[in-house]
Amino acid sequence: MAINNYALPVIRYPAGIIKWTEEAIKETDIATLKLLTMHRAPHPKSGTTRLYLDKNYGGRGLKSVQQTVKDEEQNIKAYARSMTTSDELLDEFQSAALTTELCPDDKEIDWHMKPFHDAYHQQISKVGDLHHTYMWLNKGNLTVNTESLIMAAHEQVLSTRQLQTKIYHTRDDPRCRLCKYAPETVQHIISRCKQLAGNAYTERHKNVAGVVDRSLCDEYGLNKPQHWWEAPGKVNENDLAKILWDFYIRTDKHVLANQPDIVVVILKNFFHVNFFLEIMGYIIHNDFLKYNYCPPHEHG
Ligand SMILES: [Zn+2]
Repeated sequence: MAINNYALPVIRYPAGIIKWTEEAIKETDIATLKLLTMHRAPHPKSGTTRLYLDKNYGGRGLKSVQQTVKDEEQNIKAYARSMTTSDELLDEFQSAALTTELCPDDKEIDWHMKPFHDAYHQQISKVGDLHHTYMWLNKGNLTVNTESLIMAAHEQVLSTRQLQTKIYHTRDDPRCRLCKYAPETVQHIISRCKQLAGNAYTERHKNVAGVVDRSLCDEYGLNKPQHWWEAPGKVNENDLAKILWDFYIRTDKHVLANQPDIVVVILKNFFHVNFFLEIMGYIIHNDFLKYNYCPPHEHG
């Protein structure tokens, strides 16, 4: 962001007036990328596709020198065109120049060009809302290094034992260093390792459920815990709704999962919310968020 705000205006000001060669512009972009990579923003193994993409679409929001110069040249041409509408010949020439040199839209980047690096984006775009999925990039207030690390995890380029064995060939055993059970991949570390399942995953699960619980409390005007780390009460109710937290539900028929994370009862109707937290791969084959509405006549 600092580059966009402080460094690129220096380029933008004379762009379109001073004629730089394509090589000089590309060299400036490469030098910038090298400098950023030296400071681990982005991760050295990350692809460059997302670096120049808008943050709302899962990128880092960096403007390239090449794009800046092209934008400025287009702006100057558009301005000249608007000022010469009385001259038909000049107007026609400038219209042709404007349409043939339009810059490609950032949103139209072909995510399928790098199936390995961009697998996360391709999968999440099938099941999720991209705007909300990538909101953390705009409002997360993370350091560039943390952002880079998360992006590298998305792109599966972190130096896991699986990668060291299959790609780098620097190791013989790809199994997880904790559980020694399955290949050590990013997906395995994030959501499938038995050694981490006991504590780390449970804590994350409760934290996410807590966020949803507080949102539901706001929605129905219920009292909510003062701090995010406090667990909600088992039963929270007012005249409008009742929220049950991790509550055992008695049913006439045998139900395997009879203790939903959250049950919301609204004027004798209810729905329950169960979470299944995963990253990449398997979210398509599992219900990411189960949301069931049961009419009152079925459940009393
Ligand atoms: Zn493991």
